[in-house]
Amino acid sequence: MELSLTHPVTGSCPECHTPIPTSRVLIEYENDGMSACYAECPNCTDVVTPES
Ligand SMILES: [Zn+2]
Repeated sequence: MELSLTHPVTGSCPECHTPIPTSRVLIEYENDGMSACYAECPNCTDVVTPES
């Protein structure tokens, strides 16, 4: 059984708190020297800003 822990995750969905794998990242960008990204949540299939 594959758990999400075996995959690199970029953070969790702010809506449903599902871990978001890095393969779901759409765009990465820098915000005031901090790296941030937009990713598609595998659960709600929305584009969200993952929280760590
Ligand atoms: Zn979600």
